[in-house]
Amino acid sequence: MSFLRKNILIGTFQQVKRVLRPAQRARAVRLSLLVLLGSALDVVGLATVVPVILVAQEPQRIHSNAILSSIFEGMGFETDKGFILFMVLGMLGAFIVKNLLGFWISYIQGSFSYDIATDLSARQYRAYMAKDLAFIRENNSAKLITNVINIPRFFSAGILLPLTSFLSEILVVLFILIGILIYKWQLIVMLSLVMVPAFVLIYRSSRNKINSYGQEKKVIFPKAYNEMAQSLNGFIDIRLNHRLDFFFKRFIDYQYRLNDIHLYLYSFNIIPSRANELIAILGLVFIFLYGLFIADNPSELFVILSSFAVAAYRIMPSLNRMLSSLMSMKSHSYVFDILEDIFDPSVYGETQNRILPFKEEIKFNRLTYRYPSAPKPALDQVDFSVKKGEMIGLIGESGAGKSTFMNVFLRFLVEQEGQIELDGKKLGLDDTLAWWSMIGYVPQDVFILEGTVAENIAFGVKPDEIDHSRLQKAIEGANLRDFVENLELGLESQIGEKGAKISGGQRQRLGIARALYKNAEILLFDEATSALDPQNEREIIATIKALARAGKTVLVIAHRITTLEGCDRILELQEGTVVRTYNYRELLASSLYGEVGTD
Ligand code: ADP
Ligand code: MG
Repeated sequence: MSFLRKNILIGTFQQVKRVLRPAQRARAVRLSLLVLLGSALDVVGLATVVPVILVAQEPQRIHSNAILSSIFEGMGFETDKGFILFMVLGMLGAFIVKNLLGFWISYIQGSFSYDIATDLSARQYRAYMAKDLAFIRENNSAKLITNVINIPRFFSAGILLPLTSFLSEILVVLFILIGILIYKWQLIVMLSLVMVPAFVLIYRSSRNKINSYGQEKKVIFPKAYNEMAQSLNGFIDIRLNHRLDFFFKRFIDYQYRLNDIHLYLYSFNIIPSRANELIAILGLVFIFLYGLFIADNPSELFVILSSFAVAAYRIMPSLNRMLSSLMSMKSHSYVFDILEDIFDPSVYGETQNRILPFKEEIKFNRLTYRYPSAPKPALDQVDFSVKKGEMIGLIGESGAGKSTFMNVFLRFLVEQEGQIELDGKKLGLDDTLAWWSMIGYVPQDVFILEGTVAENIAFGVKPDEIDHSRLQKAIEGANLRDFVENLELGLESQIGEKGAKISGGQRQRLGIARALYKNAEILLFDEATSALDPQNEREIIATIKALARAGKTVLVIAHRITTLEGCDRILELQEGTVVRTYNYRELLASSLYGEVGTD
């Protein structure tokens, strides 16, 4: 089988080995032993057929054959009929045992493969969540979702199971061939003359096509997924503008192609069983010719024919499965490219959650960030510091770099130059988890979970592990008391899509309460009050000011001046650089007032 080696088998084997963890490799080795046992049993079961045929054809073999006659004598049989019945029942028993065991071994193979699918999904999930925001934004989310949810299963069903099934089938074939070799070597010569070239021919003629279909599938699958997601997200605009046909066509064209590919792959899968039947008949023809022209007695021809039939009975399906397995491995070889992602290092290194000392100030030291696709930096040498307990505002027109600054501050984007310093010590990437523990982030659109008010404040903590005194303090600090008391079930009321509607102001307060529950020392407000009416805005600002007075360090990012009331200092960002510093009164008097607006 050297023709296969460099192409697919060894290649697949090595790549599988790379993807598996050491413990999984060890499990694979144990599984191979089991597969070996299964294949041996398979052949032993099969071998019980041969004496039955021999005896059925010539009952006196019971006495002329040394083994059979000693069993006959040893077990005290009296009639040939009784002995034949015993042999037939023995054969039946052997087949029952072999198939029960075979089922069990296949189940073990399957559970090994699908466990690995789960583990690979876990590894993909973790690898992607360890990336920065730039990666998440740059990659199509439909593609990432497919890579986490589907690709690991394709690996198991399309590579791993076929690989183990190939191994067990090739063992079966080898065992049978060895048996025949001992029994009648000429048969091997004939079998291999017929089967090997046919096998090679079938595989070679289809593998390139299959491979290219696999590659195409990899590209189209996420696209089809994405088109559907887009149609759902754009529902209003699509219907309103009468553009349904346009989007429908884009979607369904991908489905056509995808299903065509599946049709071709399906057809290739049928070829082996059809071709192998032809091969088997060819084998019979060869044996006839051999018996007719070479063998010296016709009884020998009968024996050869029946051995061939028995061998073909088992070898043919094995060959089918081997070919299908090879084709499956070929058509799924693209998954290895995608699974490479599990080896990506975390952007943040191996971080651990500890406590970072923060007594004096956070300094932004010539912080520069450029988006990979952008010609000039979105943050250009941003340089200022925030004292502990200060409340600082950041203002600027749309596109000035406020959101970029916030993301660098949160470490979701990583600066190319400059650094953030905490009490004079550089904030490294491996400080990220600790840094995140210190920060509460309240955006305009606070993320609300499907769940109760309590679950939304404690965020990601199991209901029975929520710390109630902390919860009460957070509710107090965020001025949520009235809201909670007016709910029928209080803290246990459901909110989110399926629960009670909450207003923009309440949403903000929930965000603040979440930051307080986690005991964040630094609070970051990102356009937090932009969507609120003036009354609600004033109330939220009062809450923020109270938090600052209580010792929290607060950073408020806004494009609306009124949001910045109460800030100790306000920095103006322009094209990624801090151009001026104001206090609130100066800001009101400046030209910015009215220009950036009070909208
Ligand atoms: P602001 O929040 O102040 O409106 P941003 O930080 O969003 O400004 O944007 C700052 C600059 O960076 C803008 O010129 C914007 O076009 C650019 N920018 C923002 N996001 C990206 C991105 N993902 N890729 C390339 N450029 C970006
Ligand atoms: Mg912005």
